[in-house]
Amino acid sequence: MKLLENKTALITGASRGIGRSHALLFAEEGANIIFTDLQANDNSESLLAELRAKGVRADFLASNASDFAQAQEVAQWVEANYGRLDVLVNNAGITRDQLILRMSVEDWNLVLDVNLRSVFNYTKAFAPLMMKQRAGSIINISSIVGLNGNAGQCNYAASKAGIIGFTRSIAKELGSRGIRCNAVAPGFIETPMTRQLSEDVRKEWMKQIPLHRGGLDTDVAHVSLFLASELAGYVTGQVISCDGGLAIN
Ligand code: NAD
Repeated sequence: MKLLENKTALITGASRGIGRSHALLFAEEGANIIFTDLQANDNSESLLAELRAKGVRADFLASNASDFAQAQEVAQWVEANYGRLDVLVNNAGITRDQLILRMSVEDWNLVLDVNLRSVFNYTKAFAPLMMKQRAGSIINISSIVGLNGNAGQCNYAASKAGIIGFTRSIAKELGSRGIRCNAVAPGFIETPMTRQLSEDVRKEWMKQIPLHRGGLDTDVAHVSLFLASELAGYVTGQVISCDGGLAIN
């Protein structure tokens, strides 16, 4: 029996990177997949084809996760077309790094909107359905930067720390309805987001990681798979780091 057989999962911002990896792994474990991203492109089309080739039901919805009304529309569509949602992965996220003295109000607002407001939007949109089911697993992708802070990333760190407070609150609020809510805090993961960094910055990161390698997007997806599945049936309100030991420094 696969870990997510007969389950339905939605992952935001999943055309590429960590979200894509979640979609593929969850589908391999038998889940039907709905994934979102800002717009349809070659990545979303190829992911949709790969998911359907695994024999599960899959759909892509172009939707901006930071927009409350669009999240409501996604939830209505999912309820009408799939009837339920077992796993919600709030993955969509961006960076706009800058030191505080140079950070614009626009970049502060944009990062908080995409990274934190989106988590509120989707949790609020799907909470009624999950409460009706009396079951659900919500997984919020935070970051070790939300735990430890990072110079040049105060907007990103604030958004990812906010996710942790939100996660613990929702775990307390919805636990009695059978809904679990946890966060995953990835460290340095090899994705298009981190490939933009200079070689010097990358080397500095590697030195600090006890396992001496960057994480893979599949490393993060494996932690989420545990949280999504019944293996984590008694786990809620937790933040699980997936960082090669980076945060223990
Ligand atoms: P990525 O940039 O490769 O992928 C992010 C995806 O989100 C993209 O497809 C993008 O189009 C989509 N997206 C952006 N804004 C959106 C919006 N408003 N609505 C819907 N979709 C939107 O990034 P990634 O590295 O795969 O990161 C995924 C998540 O993991 C993010 O929340 C990120 O903060 C977190 N994270 C990443 C790392 C890392 O090292 N890569 C570390 C810690 C946490």
